[in-house]
Amino acid sequence: MKEQISISKLVQHVSASETLSLGARIQELKNQGRSIIDLTVGEPDFETPPHIKRAGIESIRQGPTRYTPAAGMPALRSTIAQKLWRQNHIRVTPSQVVVGAGSKHLIHTALQVLCDPGDEVLVPFPTWPTYLAQVQLVCARARTIALQPPFVLTAHDIETALTKRSKVLILNSPANPTSAVIPKTELERISEIVVDRGLTVISDEIYEAFTYGSPHVSIASLGKDIAERTVTINGFSKSYAMTGWRVGYATGPLHVMEKFSALQSQTISCASSISQMAALAAMTGSQRCVQRMKVKYRRRLQYLSQALSRTPGISVIQPQGTFYLFFSIEELLSAPCPDSSSWCQQLLSEAGVALVPGDVFYALGYVRLSATASLKTLKKAVNRLRRFVMRRLS
Ligand code: PLP
Repeated sequence: MKEQISISKLVQHVSASETLSLGARIQELKNQGRSIIDLTVGEPDFETPPHIKRAGIESIRQGPTRYTPAAGMPALRSTIAQKLWRQNHIRVTPSQVVVGAGSKHLIHTALQVLCDPGDEVLVPFPTWPTYLAQVQLVCARARTIALQPPFVLTAHDIETALTKRSKVLILNSPANPTSAVIPKTELERISEIVVDRGLTVISDEIYEAFTYGSPHVSIASLGKDIAERTVTINGFSKSYAMTGWRVGYATGPLHVMEKFSALQSQTISCASSISQMAALAAMTGSQRCVQRMKVKYRRRLQYLSQALSRTPGISVIQPQGTFYLFFSIEELLSAPCPDSSSWCQQLLSEAGVALVPGDVFYALGYVRLSATASLKTLKKAVNRLRRFVMRRLS
């Protein structure tokens, strides 16, 4: 028998996102005619706003439809640099901005640019699992920082976890899945440690548009020293409901961003020109669409946190940002559902509500609910979930 093509050691242990396999089960149940409310997906339920779509269509009709510079179109890079100053108070030149194919890919690029094999990357837990997969892909080592509810990272947490090998700190505020937002005073303390200990920050600010208490603060805005040690990553997927367009951006010190650009030129060449034109329209057009989405997410999260807080056995982390509700079901766990994975599976098969078990984010006993459905659908989901819980308690 002929031998199968062998898979490289580097990717042997990479598995597809867990939410994808959940998606397959959801589809199976839907195919059986079951009514399933799917609240697993981390993407807006809104359409890309019409003026942004029109810019994409116009680009297909009239151009540009060719390669752009590896770091992105000059007009988009300079618009992003202006936005970074106006909105985030980060002062950069357009040459310090690199446009890429979504922030996920830019985070991978950042790790490639910053890490040597064996370097330690500090990752606060619970976490978006992609960070860990990507740390592995650059042969670096993840050092976890286990956070306690409500999962807001503090300078003290970092100090406790630091070792001599620590090189990079991943920050994600507002955070997926916990919805935690790090307040400015804490970010100031964190930036002191980063500068003192010579760490580098990758600050993933993809959910910046959606905060409901403390406003979003970019760590790179807190002074020249921390700006020189930070790569800020952002994108259009969440703020403008543009997940499928695959466009994001990164900024940081010039010598770092030059390497981003060089690496992109050897990998993706550039982000799609059509998506870049749409992104330009997103940034230069009215921002009312972002505000409208934020108002809806806030209303939905308020409803969900009130309704679920009143459900026995459920303990809700008050959402500070994003569009996720994160809650503990620890008190509800017992045979035949001893962990959040089996609990979510049972909820799906019995009640037709799909949620992501906390195990995916390294948060045992927790569950993530994506508020990316209408209030009407969310109410229906809550009713089903409460009935499911009450049945099991009675
Ligand atoms: N960062 C976080 C924390 C996310 O949750 C996601 C998507 O779910 C991304 C980045 C990826 O965003 P993009 O679509 O820009 O690649």
